[in-house]
Amino acid sequence: MIYLDYQATTPVAPEVAEAMQPWISEKFANPHSPSRWGREAAAAIELARKRVTDAIGLTRGRLAFTGSATEALNWALKGTLEKAKGRDRIVTVATEHAAVLDTCEWLESRGSNVTRLPVGANGLLNLDNLKAELDDRVAIVAVMLVNNEIGVIQPIAEIAEAAHEIGALMLCDAVQGLGRVDIPRGPDLVAVSGHKIHGPKAVGALWMRDGAEPEALIHGGGQELGLRSGTLSPALCVGFGAAANLVSECRAIDSDHVDALWASALQELRTGWTVNGSEDQRYHGNLNLRRDGLDAARLISDLRDIAFSLGSACASGSGRPSHVLRAIGLGDREARSSIRLGFGRYTSKEELVGAIRRIDAAARDQQGLAA
Ligand code: PLP
Repeated sequence: MIYLDYQATTPVAPEVAEAMQPWISEKFANPHSPSRWGREAAAAIELARKRVTDAIGLTRGRLAFTGSATEALNWALKGTLEKAKGRDRIVTVATEHAAVLDTCEWLESRGSNVTRLPVGANGLLNLDNLKAELDDRVAIVAVMLVNNEIGVIQPIAEIAEAAHEIGALMLCDAVQGLGRVDIPRGPDLVAVSGHKIHGPKAVGALWMRDGAEPEALIHGGGQELGLRSGTLSPALCVGFGAAANLVSECRAIDSDHVDALWASALQELRTGWTVNGSEDQRYHGNLNLRRDGLDAARLISDLRDIAFSLGSACASGSGRPSHVLRAIGLGDREARSSIRLGFGRYTSKEELVGAIRRIDAAARDQQGLAA
């Protein structure tokens, strides 16, 4: 199988699997227990916390582990609205992940006021549009760094500055950006996920600037900084920490590799394909392509040994055309003619180029064109 679905999830790094191993077998102690074994597990979690914090690269804040980035985003939004006195507005963007958009919809049903800003055809937010929407009722501005469907990179530092000018907090979903692009200074809350950086699934984290901690949503033993209860999994935290350490160490090599893959992919593409979203303001490990008249779902089932995706993993399951592709102005037909190729550290040039040739040939065949 050729795996080209790096935005859905990334292969677990061998170093990560090795680091986790003792913590899923013999080292089973509860990290919150005072025994020597418990303290050893707690120390491993603290090292992991430092590694994930270092990979995020922001200072003057604390990081709490969560069960996923989805949980971190829910916590950031709901917990901030809960705490914000007299501020009931959320400003976000139409192209955010469902973890943000659906949470906003839920908050809206409870009386919050949500503004979803449009993006241009390149997928980018217009800062003047954002500023025009900001007032002293806004509690939080939520914008993702790297889009999971089209890879475009939003101007997070400027967005955070605009949010701060009116006294609001800025939440950045950096799930697809961590270890791939720099996380700019400015956000007060940053959500990240283990499985998008070659770590394990079902572990995420919320980084919180000092003083910007949201109200707790999960109550109990108070394990994570007194803000997020529940026994942590040393195996998952250690795996996330090892993955974060690797992305920090391999950042330059990973980035050169991805840039070279992107260049090879573009060179290989024959006529008829258009890149969705900005090509310049973009993470190069995401190639979202459309081809007029293509039945992308059929293409995916014709090429079962190549793992790639329709707009996004979530949209693929639902049968709905992607909200991101619609937000950049594509009609339903164009959205259904789009595919997403995601690649990275463990993708070879031969695999990617070979897959693109086969995808192109299958698309032409589907459309009755000569190979
Ligand atoms: N945000 C973005 C941009 C994502 O791509 C994802 C995962 O698909 C999430 C949030 C949710 O992350 P998790 O799988 O850890 O809940």
